[in-house]
Amino acid sequence: MMDFETIKSLEDQHSVGVYSKRPVAIVRGKGAHLFDVNGREYIDCVGGQGAANLGHANPKIAAAIAAQAERLIGLPEMFYNDTRAELMDRLCNLTGMESIFFCNSGTEAVEAALKFSKVITGRKEIVATVRGFHGRSMGSLSATWEKRYREPFEPLVPGFSHIPYNDVDALDSAITDQTAAFIVEIVQGEGGIRPGSPEYFHAAEKICKERGALLIIDEVQSGFGRTGRWYAHQHYDLKPDLLTSAKSLGGGIPFGAVMLRKGFDKLPTAVHGSTFGGNPIACAASLAAIDFIEEEHLIEKTAENGAWFLNALREIESPLIREVRGLGLMIGMELKQKTAPYIAQLTERGILVLTAGMTVMRFLPPLVIERSDLEIVVKNVKEVLQA
Ligand SMILES: *Cc1c(COP(=O)(O)O)cnc(C)c1O
Repeated sequence: MMDFETIKSLEDQHSVGVYSKRPVAIVRGKGAHLFDVNGREYIDCVGGQGAANLGHANPKIAAAIAAQAERLIGLPEMFYNDTRAELMDRLCNLTGMESIFFCNSGTEAVEAALKFSKVITGRKEIVATVRGFHGRSMGSLSATWEKRYREPFEPLVPGFSHIPYNDVDALDSAITDQTAAFIVEIVQGEGGIRPGSPEYFHAAEKICKERGALLIIDEVQSGFGRTGRWYAHQHYDLKPDLLTSAKSLGGGIPFGAVMLRKGFDKLPTAVHGSTFGGNPIACAASLAAIDFIEEEHLIEKTAENGAWFLNALREIESPLIREVRGLGLMIGMELKQKTAPYIAQLTERGILVLTAGMTVMRFLPPLVIERSDLEIVVKNVKEVLQA
């Protein structure tokens, strides 16, 4: 195998440069652990940025992918398919939703949800939130708040506005009879791991319903077990009109979906589509992921480990910490200064942690992570903050 310097110099030479990279070349994974090219082991709290809920190289998922690959890899949705049919039924049963559009990423799921809400309502305006993140295609980017992501690409799609998150009054003034949809995350992920309150979401549901606007809940990051429920909105008994899912939906391979509640007419034929959407291999991986979550009681385990981890991080005493927030195993520790030096020290100690903005350390470990690994993470976070 290539050595670290060779891998790094090839990527540095040929990558367009949009990613800030860490000085580690990962070549293998197992569960919540990753291994670099020199065989060094890391505890992974990056979790594929939310795409590795099922653990790395999960053998059940690998076997399902291999079996499906030998039978049929790809098939456009102009044909029916057994694996896809089964997955549609499973996902609708898990969520209580009625119909599904499959695609290949979170961005595409959001893009489809925005388009569908315009088609369904005949309206043009979309309301999104301050610090919301919904993707980087021109449509989904228009719903995303962060200026750094938006500015180079303006003008974006017209008709989008951003209102303060978790603020019922702002919602009440922004949603009108012109609003096609309000798009919101249950826990803002990229925006800094900020959970909204149940009252806020119930108000959103009510206001949208009254004014004929659709409620799009974006669960690309918070979905598929991450918060200790299948989908985070289930903590609060919410009924989204549209629900987006991606990241871990495909058990680690690229996959996305938007689900629609009962009661809508079928969308017009050809109004949207995707060559790879609903491909059997992603569907097979997703079915294996659902089976694995159920067999391993991963939802319950995530709720328990998440509550333990959140509490253990909150117990760390350091003047550097502003706040620790989260739901399930979606946790953020906001510092009073930049996280970069602490993230680098944790990497040196064999612990990989994500960021959310400049000052939030974000923990999205695979849900299969053992309590003993979480204990090691807490100990090391404590040591680097108290050093
Ligand atoms: C990651 C994310 C997206 C975009 O998903 P991609 O698969 O990266 O395109 C959209 N919405 C939310 C809430 C996300 O966290």
